[in-house]
Amino acid sequence: MSQSTVSVVDLFSIGIGPSSSHTVGPMRAANQFVEKLGAVPTRVRVELRGSLAATGIGHGTDRAVLLGLVGWTPLTASSDVAPLPGESIPAKGTIEGSGGTVEYEVVFDPAPVSPHPNCLIFDAWDDAGNLVADRAEYYSIGGGFILDHAGMNAKGADPDIATEHAGQVVPFEFHSAAELMRICEDNDLTIAEVMRANEDALHGWSSVREHLDRVWDVMQECVSRGLKSEGILPGGLNVVRRAPRLYRLLTAEYEASTARGLDAMEWVNLYALAVNEENAAHGQVVTAPTNGAAGIIPAVMHYCRDFTDGFTQDKAREFLLTAAAIGIIIKTNASISGAEVGCQGEVGSASSMAAAGMCALLGGSPSQVENAAEIALEHNLGLTCDPVGGLVQVPCIERNAIGGVKAINAARLAKLGDGSNIVTLDNVVETMASTGRDMSDKYKETSMGGLAVQLGMPVNRIEC
Ligand code: SF4
Repeated sequence: MSQSTVSVVDLFSIGIGPSSSHTVGPMRAANQFVEKLGAVPTRVRVELRGSLAATGIGHGTDRAVLLGLVGWTPLTASSDVAPLPGESIPAKGTIEGSGGTVEYEVVFDPAPVSPHPNCLIFDAWDDAGNLVADRAEYYSIGGGFILDHAGMNAKGADPDIATEHAGQVVPFEFHSAAELMRICEDNDLTIAEVMRANEDALHGWSSVREHLDRVWDVMQECVSRGLKSEGILPGGLNVVRRAPRLYRLLTAEYEASTARGLDAMEWVNLYALAVNEENAAHGQVVTAPTNGAAGIIPAVMHYCRDFTDGFTQDKAREFLLTAAAIGIIIKTNASISGAEVGCQGEVGSASSMAAAGMCALLGGSPSQVENAAEIALEHNLGLTCDPVGGLVQVPCIERNAIGGVKAINAARLAKLGDGSNIVTLDNVVETMASTGRDMSDKYKETSMGGLAVQLGMPVNRIEC
């Protein structure tokens, strides 16, 4: 028995688009800031710094923080709460919500910031004009996880400090794929069974099962909404939602259940587009493990549901538990944040997790599952983050479709192998971390390089 790591409940959370680090995390930071104060303050000044400032308007960071100050949470907020997604928000004003009314000022400061590029600083005053919070710092470290100043300083000593479970014990502690493989072999368990035992110790299995079922429901609801929602995505790029038209085209040709061979890949593309268009429209999604990459795991799960035999609710749970084990290894040893390591940390991680989940459902052994995760991540190494106009739309939406197809290919390739490999998942995770460290800041969610500058779109667009 030993200390726990990140939980599946932390890794798959339900929130709003378009970004776990730039929308969900900042909203949680505002929630936590007010909770610590004990009451909604009369006046707040919030500085959005680093990447949160560089791409904050495109990601709706200002909207998320303001809503978070007055009582909305990632679970309760939706795309029809005012200010609406894409609406221009004045730098100073008043915001109202169930928690109260706040006079606010939002300041954007895109200068590079350390120790993490996504930083928020709050000052607050009470009714009498007394300063009740002085430069309270929060960091949104990816996947919706946040740390305050003390937590950020402690992170160097304990990479899992971001979880509320630090210090709790689980029966099968693992920090690497090698350790996980050893546990599976020594105890004759699948990866999902190891995860289930750990999650049972952390939360109780019935509550985890409920969470996993809710996650899968939200993924399916999100796809259904995305298939029907027409229109232009907010933010000013005038990106037309493609999923409804593609859905009409595919259903006119064949039902998902009658598709043959590579036709199935068109449905995988469709499911991913549906989720990521919902995400870009600031709709409800499952952070899996981030919002930018939220379409990959649902797309592959829908593929398993519609194109493989024997998919059940139990199989959905097995998929999510297996995928989460891989996400935990990546998060612990590298990062799932585009602002830290580029898109390899977001789309690469999601693709790797999905490959593992699917390989497990195909009956893959733990080592074949590890191979699947390794193959998918390896072939996303070096992927940069360069969202055009600071919006999670181009290249993000299509990139999820490609990431989903890549995951399926990796799962099938690994299942045909014997579980042995030259490059291990741990090697690839370490390579991702070092590649991320070497990567210029231009390619880490700042929209200062790559496609973002090729198309000449200014960041922080406010017209829509
Ligand atoms: S390019 Fe990748 S990491 Fe960057 S915002 Fe888009 S999905 Fe996220």
